[in-house]
Amino acid sequence: MAQVHTVLGPIAPEDLGLTLIHEHVMVDFIGADETGPHRWDRDVVAPTMQPYLDALVAQGVMSLVECTPNYLGRDSVLLQRVSRATGLHIVTNTGLYKEPHLPAWAFELSPAELAERWIAEWEQGIDETGVRPGFIKIAVNPGPLLPIQQTIVRAAAITHLATGLSVVCHTAHAAAAHESLDLVEEEGMDPRHYVVAHADQIGPDQIAPESISNLDAVDLEPAWEAHVALLRRGAWLEYDSIGWNPYEWHERLLLAMLERGYEDQLLLSQDAGWYHVGEPGGGTVQPMTKLLDEFVPRLRAAGVTEALVEKLLVDNPRAVLSVD
Ligand SMILES: [Zn+2]
Repeated sequence: MAQVHTVLGPIAPEDLGLTLIHEHVMVDFIGADETGPHRWDRDVVAPTMQPYLDALVAQGVMSLVECTPNYLGRDSVLLQRVSRATGLHIVTNTGLYKEPHLPAWAFELSPAELAERWIAEWEQGIDETGVRPGFIKIAVNPGPLLPIQQTIVRAAAITHLATGLSVVCHTAHAAAAHESLDLVEEEGMDPRHYVVAHADQIGPDQIAPESISNLDAVDLEPAWEAHVALLRRGAWLEYDSIGWNPYEWHERLLLAMLERGYEDQLLLSQDAGWYHVGEPGGGTVQPMTKLLDEFVPRLRAAGVTEALVEKLLVDNPRAVLSVD
């Protein structure tokens, strides 16, 4: 029987509902050597984030996938507390990010040894909470992949094969995405369980989409081809910076891929929110409401059907998070 593993325990995939697949409740960018629960006060973080999460519930959002990995501010105790207070299903992760957010011990391990630690989190739970991860979160550098990031990608594939959990990889460049897919395939993993997060950063000739002021003046075909080349390999593409770049970029990108028939491999989110550990009051929190308030209405106006919106925000996240 398929299940989704939330911080409060397993739920039926049908109960996920409207899901934001890539957001953050809290992030600590200080680095692996200094981060830890001593850096934040849950009694401050939880109430600071509560109104931002309540706003999602008011929009009809039922589930939030928290993409903060270990050593970057992952806190399963905090997430359990926030989930109880808001009623949102929250999913956390196992895995590791990239430098300077990697502990020294990670550099000493082989892919199999690293995977062993992540599989242990799946089997025994994270920290003292016993919370089980609902996916594997990793990251890669722009490419060519550094040896440590190659190890982490391979470890993710090994962990996937042992657990069934999907891999979500912070990837902002096409070359890094292809190299990562080569590595997971070498380990025997089907790219259909691999999510290229931040794929919307793969722009025309790798120019940052946010720097393009006039999309009409740019030949977008090379960008579309770069996205199609990844989709053809079977991977998910996650367009998760909605609200950070001009909506026009995301609208054109998404419509171009829908037109080509890839609706079964696309995910939408905002990579927003978060209590910034170390900043007074948690710094400036980016609301997570823009996707539904501002972007989805643009899609409807462009002719995207309700059924397709539901596919992108309900069915596809459910497919990524369901584990047998
Ligand atoms: Zn993120």
